[in-house]
Amino acid sequence: MLKTVKFGGSSLADAERFANIKHIIELDPSRRIMVVSAPGKSKAYRHKITDLLYLCNEHIKYKVDYSEFFSMIETRYRDIANTLGIADKVDLDYEFAEIHRGIEEKRGTNYLVSRGEYLCAKLMAAYLGYDFVDASNVIIFDYRGNIDFNKTNNALVNAFKASGGRIVIPGFYGSMPGGAIQLMTRGGSDVTGAIAAAALDCDMYENWTDVAGILMADPEVVKNPLPISHITYSQLRDMTYMGAKVLHEETVLAVREKNIPINIRSTLDIHNPGTVISSESEVALSGRMITGLAGRKNYTIISVAKNHVSAEIGVIRQVVETCEKMDIQVENMLFGIDCFSLVVRSEQVAANMYNFVAAMEQICGENSVKIRENISLVAAVGCRAEGSRAGIYSKMLDALAEQDIRIRIVTQGPEEANIVIGVDDKRCDDAIRVLYRAFVG
Ligand code: ASP
Repeated sequence: MLKTVKFGGSSLADAERFANIKHIIELDPSRRIMVVSAPGKSKAYRHKITDLLYLCNEHIKYKVDYSEFFSMIETRYRDIANTLGIADKVDLDYEFAEIHRGIEEKRGTNYLVSRGEYLCAKLMAAYLGYDFVDASNVIIFDYRGNIDFNKTNNALVNAFKASGGRIVIPGFYGSMPGGAIQLMTRGGSDVTGAIAAAALDCDMYENWTDVAGILMADPEVVKNPLPISHITYSQLRDMTYMGAKVLHEETVLAVREKNIPINIRSTLDIHNPGTVISSESEVALSGRMITGLAGRKNYTIISVAKNHVSAEIGVIRQVVETCEKMDIQVENMLFGIDCFSLVVRSEQVAANMYNFVAAMEQICGENSVKIRENISLVAAVGCRAEGSRAGIYSKMLDALAEQDIRIRIVTQGPEEANIVIGVDDKRCDDAIRVLYRAFVG
């Protein structure tokens, strides 16, 4: 049994949390590949190291003194090292001098910000007696900034073979073909963990954070939502895409191909089994009608009227080409006989709205376009498939109608049984609460 375990920033905030991680590691000898974020917030520390590093970077860019923020960063790492008694194992004087050198040499934002994870992994490796493996040697990007999986997988396999069988890798960064550090998007350590788990053929990818798994809805919207014990990879992708803040969006892609389960666990509640993400779904196991609910605000529905548009070959192509030219991603496209609607993210059309409407009118005629902004998409993810879909629809629509929530669109995902409804932004949270009550009680 071999596991990759990833720990998020809040689980690494101070020496006490490091000690808690050591305890978790000692409970299971298969936890041999570790990926860490940079220390996050805690009661004593109000800032994430990564945020402070970005702040230093901005000061450097505008040639403003950054020493105050840098010393906050230094203090955090030195406190951890001193409290854990590992100050003699990691030469922090050298490491900080090296970072200052990097700043003077203008190695750039990616280098500076990556030092949060780098130093954290150095300390963790020393503390656990694991080998430190620098992500810049094993997470390899191609020229376009995408992960080069061939090179990355080989590098990870070789690094693991060359180690003593227990390694710590800093998350969130890798290197470009020329060797420069490349950051992932925020929260990217989740992705590093998934890449390592897949490359090293792990039996499980444990993602340790400060919540015991995924909940059926956002707890800021629904009071005490039930936890989800099992969710499929694609349901999780849908939940995340639709706004649930769980894992970095790209995490699943790396492990799904090899069918490696992800287990989301809490370092604050270490015996809670959390949520397992695999090919098994909650609805199949629990008898619930849906797996979860998620909502995302700020969409725009663009409706275009044109007689017999459904019979006119070529119109769709022109519309899609126009979107492509303007870099507008179409989330949904609905067709009627004499009209069609596009659902797009508002931020993608806002700056280009007049041009976009003009282009649509050129294709479909003057005054053919109607815009409805401030729309939310609310998704019921992972609906039970066998025969009861009609029941789910009627339950949803009845519950929404009872609370006078206008439905602007309804769509259904093609593969997994997701039902997505569009409502006005101001009723988004209400819609989620109403649906939660209807399905869960
Ligand atoms: N430390 C980075 C962030 O705050 C990356 C991560 O936590 O995964 O986004």
